[in-house]
Amino acid sequence: MSEFASPRPSSQTAKIREQAYCLACGWPVIFTFCNDGMAHTAPYSGWDSWIYCANKTCKHHGGEGIFHNMPDWIKTTGH
Ligand SMILES: [Zn+2]
Repeated sequence: MSEFASPRPSSQTAKIREQAYCLACGWPVIFTFCNDGMAHTAPYSGWDSWIYCANKTCKHHGGEGIFHNMPDWIKTTGH
């Protein structure tokens, strides 16, 4: 193993969820896949994906696991 990780594509890690934001503070929300360490760490390991507010001082920064449904503290715009 090298000391440093190589960049991994956002399709396997995390990215800003476009057209969605946190209803509590208005910040963007981050959509992550539960792989790597998250696949072995509760509570993330029980979910396919995890979504959280990017604002570290927001009560939703901890986020929650999702399969298909969007949590009610996230507002999606468009479609
Ligand atoms: Zn927030």
